Amino acid sequence: MLPLRKNIAEMAGYVPGFQPEGEGWIKLNTNENPYPPSPKVAEAIIAEMSRGGENLRKYPDAGSKEARRVAAELYGVDPSWVIMANGSDELLNNLIRAFAGEGEGVAYVHPSYSYYATLADIQGAKIRTFGLTDDCLIADFPNCYEGKIFFLTSPNAPFGFGFDNDYIAELAGRCAGILVVDEAYIDFTTVSAMELVKQYENVVVTRTFSKSYSLAGMRLGLAVARPEVIAALDKIRDHYHLDRLALVAATAALQDQEYLQSTVSRICETRDWFSAELRKIGYRVEPSLTNYIFAEPGDRCGKRVYDGLFDHKILVRYFSDPLLKHGVRISIGSREEMEQALTAIIETS
Ligand SMILES: *Cc1c(COP(=O)(O)O)cnc(C)c1O
Repeated sequence: MLPLRKNIAEMAGYVPGFQPEGEGWIKLNTNENPYPPSPKVAEAIIAEMSRGGENLRKYPDAGSKEARRVAAELYGVDPSWVIMANGSDELLNNLIRAFAGEGEGVAYVHPSYSYYATLADIQGAKIRTFGLTDDCLIADFPNCYEGKIFFLTSPNAPFGFGFDNDYIAELAGRCAGILVVDEAYIDFTTVSAMELVKQYENVVVTRTFSKSYSLAGMRLGLAVARPEVIAALDKIRDHYHLDRLALVAATAALQDQEYLQSTVSRICETRDWFSAELRKIGYRVEPSLTNYIFAEPGDRCGKRVYDGLFDHKILVRYFSDPLLKHGVRISIGSREEMEQALTAIIETS
């Protein structure tokens, strides 16, 4: 027998969205962006690779100083309030490692991002989940949640609605530990909880470059929180967690907000068109503030839609969870991809 920790031996491990081999698939299953990243990103990477990649000889800047400075300027905070990361998943992991010891409480909303549970399992933390009410609020949230961390995905995944800041502020007041607002999809909407970080000591906001910035393949994320929280996260991360190419990519992407806005608005336009078309053929589609929709067919059989689209080499996300099996989550691709998806949905229904 391997001398594994008991919780590691017993945990299942996370299953990421399917990444198909071979050509010809339309991937609408992992909320990737259909458009390339800002051209400034490739320019920055090519510049970093000049002289035969001579710079790669040297370690990167362990403190991500330039990327933090640019992010801090963008969000109107001091750089000591910002940390960069190897995907926002690294931050979620390190927040648990920093705040929740073995047997201590970690909570999140179900349904939302199930990776929180895997990360809490690794740490041996005690997991609690809260459901949603019909009004899209947290069901039975205590006056004071005593656990160390509560993760709030806002906008929600996979339903796509947002929580307003008054409500998030109220939750912050009801958390004895920290409230992590996972804003993976915030660029597709307008209201962010970022201002609450300054008002509430226990609020941390995390962001990813994987969706709105089209950089899932670079692995980049960031968090904004008070300097004491950032200092703790800096202590426990791998010192060279971001390589030179990722660092210049992050800086270039953050500096091109105009490009970000242009791709985001194209995606939102396609989303609204696609949602309306699905409603015309009898689907129920929740209004979404993100780059995906949760779509429920008339017969409430998500698996049938998933299988029908799979046969057309179109991948969407089906969750067998009882709260989600009546629909599918469909990422918003390019207009052409969504036209093909619509045709396939009509053919399979
Ligand atoms: C995609 C996603 C993440 C992970 O982002 P990475 O930066 O790719 O690690 C985190 N939270 C939510 C809710 C997501 O959808």
